[in-house]
Amino acid sequence: MKHYDARSMKAEEFISHEEILETIRYAEENKHNIPLIDSLLEKARPKKTGNGVRCAGLSHREASVLLACDLPEKVQEMYKLAEEIKLAFYGNRIVMFAPLYLSNYCVNGCVYCPYHLKNKHIARKKLTQEEVRREVIALQDMGHKRLAIEAGEDPVHNPIEYILECIKTIYSIHHKNGAIRRVNVNIAATTVENYRKLKEAGIGTYILFQETYNKESYLELHPTGPKHDYAYHTEAMDRAMEGGIDDVGLGVLFGLEGYQYEFAGLLMHAEHLEAVHGVGPHTISVPRIKRADDIDPGVFDNGVPDDIFAKIIACIRIAVPYTGMIISTRESEQVRARALDLGISQISGASRTSVGGYAEEERPHDTEQFDVSDQRTLDEVVQWLMKTGYIPSFCTACYREGRTGDRFMSLCKTGQILNCCHPNALMTLSEYLVDYASPETQKIGFALIERELEKIPGEKVRKIARENVAAIQNSDRRDFRF
Ligand code: SF4
Ligand code: SF4
Repeated sequence: MKHYDARSMKAEEFISHEEILETIRYAEENKHNIPLIDSLLEKARPKKTGNGVRCAGLSHREASVLLACDLPEKVQEMYKLAEEIKLAFYGNRIVMFAPLYLSNYCVNGCVYCPYHLKNKHIARKKLTQEEVRREVIALQDMGHKRLAIEAGEDPVHNPIEYILECIKTIYSIHHKNGAIRRVNVNIAATTVENYRKLKEAGIGTYILFQETYNKESYLELHPTGPKHDYAYHTEAMDRAMEGGIDDVGLGVLFGLEGYQYEFAGLLMHAEHLEAVHGVGPHTISVPRIKRADDIDPGVFDNGVPDDIFAKIIACIRIAVPYTGMIISTRESEQVRARALDLGISQISGASRTSVGGYAEEERPHDTEQFDVSDQRTLDEVVQWLMKTGYIPSFCTACYREGRTGDRFMSLCKTGQILNCCHPNALMTLSEYLVDYASPETQKIGFALIERELEKIPGEKVRKIARENVAAIQNSDRRDFRF
């Protein structure tokens, strides 16, 4: 039996199979233990401190009890608490981003992904730098400022030099008033040296989904290719941190394994990062398996229904209050709407999950990684968010002000981040409205900004934000930030 140790650098010790099974057993036994559940909800509740609001979070065991609990009244309390935590740290702002697929060449055999090596009927494509340029201009013309680049693992077609060249190209393009100000990177597990190169290239978050924390399933789901190595994949975030990247993004592909297992594994991974590096994950993504070329989600028998999915999101929000949560266009408008209330802080909009998809007039399907459920334009998503009480934000300020890793977390933990996020959201939304929005969206947006500016507590910050919003409306001056 492997010994469980959050501080160990060995995958099978910080993600201990036995500890996860024990956690699931404990959660099952206590799922109707009302005094325990009440005490956990109380522990996790935001508490006022001298200089802000603090949340204690929950351990993987504690959070697993909440996840297992199916008492309707307690589940409603969890939802309410998740919303409260979200409001305390993220307010009503939702950060926008888009994925950019660079290449779907891949040497791995992941059985749930259409880019797997043996799929001979999907078209293979890798963007040239000129094509990257076209994609980025199309994304800038929509209004995007923050991208997540995606590429399959292929040392011949997509070596690290190719990824670095693409990042350089992306940052160099300034079309009209457009700019991509933060490039997050979602590429295969790699070496410390390569992570260092990514850091030097100025990336934001390094994102790598674990897919599943269950080693046995992992080996079956990844039968061939370098990704088959469970330890190398699971220990990737430690190498990324060693390479100087202090914002890392975790995630599992819900539907591959039992969700209780993944949930406990995900939180154990977060605890490990916190224990070893002093900083937890910057983000957690919650993708669910979707239909795609050569892939039928029906063959995976761990599908997560919408209600459970909502509970997972709420419980993650409660357990790791300072971690951003991301939901993609894999999910429908309805599912996303509910998820936003329960803790999601970042969403993609108008995504195209094919290589070279943005520069095409029509959404192409021949190289898509998965079916997009939410097919609305960015303008439609922005308008929808505002109508439902959210402020779409195109803010990238923290990363550009050097507020990453523990510097970001300590600001976040003392509630200070709120003094930056709100005005930054309003200023970047102003940019979006002036440069890219439809007249209807502009009308709704400017009225919202007017109302929200009033809510900035500090008089000085409020005055500066107001002046900057006016400058954006009346000139080509851009990129103001706190
Ligand atoms: S999930 Fe990633 S590594 Fe696996 S086949 Fe798809 S692109 Fe390749
Ligand atoms: S100020 Fe920082 S934490 Fe707040 S929205 Fe901007 S980048 Fe995110």
